[in-house]
Amino acid sequence: MAKAKRQHTFPCGHRGRGQVCHRCQQEAQAQAQAQQEAAERQQQRQTWQAQFEQDAIDLRGLPSHVVEKARSILRDLDQGQHFTALKGKRMMFDRSVIRIPVGHRYRLLCREQEGHLLPWRVMTHEDYNAYASNKRPVG
Ligand SMILES: [Zn+2]
Repeated sequence: MAKAKRQHTFPCGHRGRGQVCHRCQQEAQAQAQAQQEAAERQQQRQTWQAQFEQDAIDLRGLPSHVVEKARSILRDLDQGQHFTALKGKRMMFDRSVIRIPVGHRYRLLCREQEGHLLPWRVMTHEDYNAYASNKRPVG
């Protein structure tokens, strides 16, 4: 009962001891932290989005690990690695098209023009199979 006497009501309406309301202080801290985390996530999202501008081909909409893997392959190609070193193969029906696996589920297609390999697009294994069996270009 002696302790209860030292409690008082803060302007916020909570009851407690000390100069400031610890309940409100904790809430304010949690809110500030949540805001900072949201700002960091926003920043990361913006950085992530901005990186797509630098890519040789559009990698938007792909899972992030596929984006990273595709970028690493594009970098290797850019640095002069031969596509065979990246497990790339020529298409049977169109020898100017080269497919390079991007993990298990995705393929990077490139077109060869005048001896240069031009990245074309990344597609799923399924889309690639449809493309390969139709034997005509997709969109
Ligand atoms: Zn309070």
